[in-house]
Amino acid sequence: MAGIPLDQRDGWIWFDGEFVEWREAKVHLLTHALHYGSGVFEGQRAYGGQVFKLRQHTDRLLNSARILDFKIPYSADEIDAACEAVLKKNELTDAYMRPIAWRGSHELGLYARGNPVHFAIAAWEWPSYFKPEERLKGIRLTVADWRRPAPDTSPYAAKATGLYMICTLSKHAATDRGYTDALMLDYRGQIAESTGSNIFFHRDGELHTPTPDCFLDGITRQTVIGLAKARGLKIVERAMMPEELADFDECFVTGTAVEVTPVAEIDEHRFTPSEVTTSLMEAYSAEVQPKQAAAE
Ligand code: PMP
Repeated sequence: MAGIPLDQRDGWIWFDGEFVEWREAKVHLLTHALHYGSGVFEGQRAYGGQVFKLRQHTDRLLNSARILDFKIPYSADEIDAACEAVLKKNELTDAYMRPIAWRGSHELGLYARGNPVHFAIAAWEWPSYFKPEERLKGIRLTVADWRRPAPDTSPYAAKATGLYMICTLSKHAATDRGYTDALMLDYRGQIAESTGSNIFFHRDGELHTPTPDCFLDGITRQTVIGLAKARGLKIVERAMMPEELADFDECFVTGTAVEVTPVAEIDEHRFTPSEVTTSLMEAYSAEVQPKQAAAE
């Protein structure tokens, strides 16, 4: 990032079907999404010039819009092609990408079906979400005061902008107290996820992870479950309570931005990132490489 504000970079952003200069990619003040959170987005990464699990991200994006009762005016094939075009136009091979769709500014009422739906894609280099030195040692989490809401109080399966309000508040509170990030419990007091990633715990050859019944079932989470099973680890998806944290020896978070990142502490609990975490970090790094390159 080198200190350059994100909106003052050079490059090209795909915006409603055409390339717009990075600094000119703007929206109007009366944009519905700005006022009411009516936006959906993806976070995806390109490795070696190919977006990892692109179609899965595109399908999730289209589904997130459906859940928010709007339709992105492009097909999955068109969105995939646009993502690839963004990489090419910006001459990026390893990048973080942010496709986003939102309700526009023709009307500001809560009834929003008359608003046009916009769609844009930005990509830039963003190598590590956490500082590399923190990442290797393991990050430090603290339990947040905010809780993931019940399924009938938020459209949790959508990757929707409005759902991140409590994530930002939790992240600020955690960093104010000297932690890297927050662990969020859900409305029942069960362990849910971190502010932008899913969480796994290890003991005795078993990986335990909360059932994603009120938070995002991440694409990285699903990938890591597959990699862990292939390595003989037993996956236990279940309701997990914070009182159990002392029972585990390793812990890590997963997500497109954080990839597989070890956790060293959750409040008074200590974890020692070792074999299981490092082998899954390596397995994930290998998995994201373009398939034809991996086969060579
Ligand atoms: N939970 C939240 C709240 C997130 O923002 C993310 C990142 N998209 C994840 C989990 C992990 O999802 P994924 O592995 O699909 O990036």
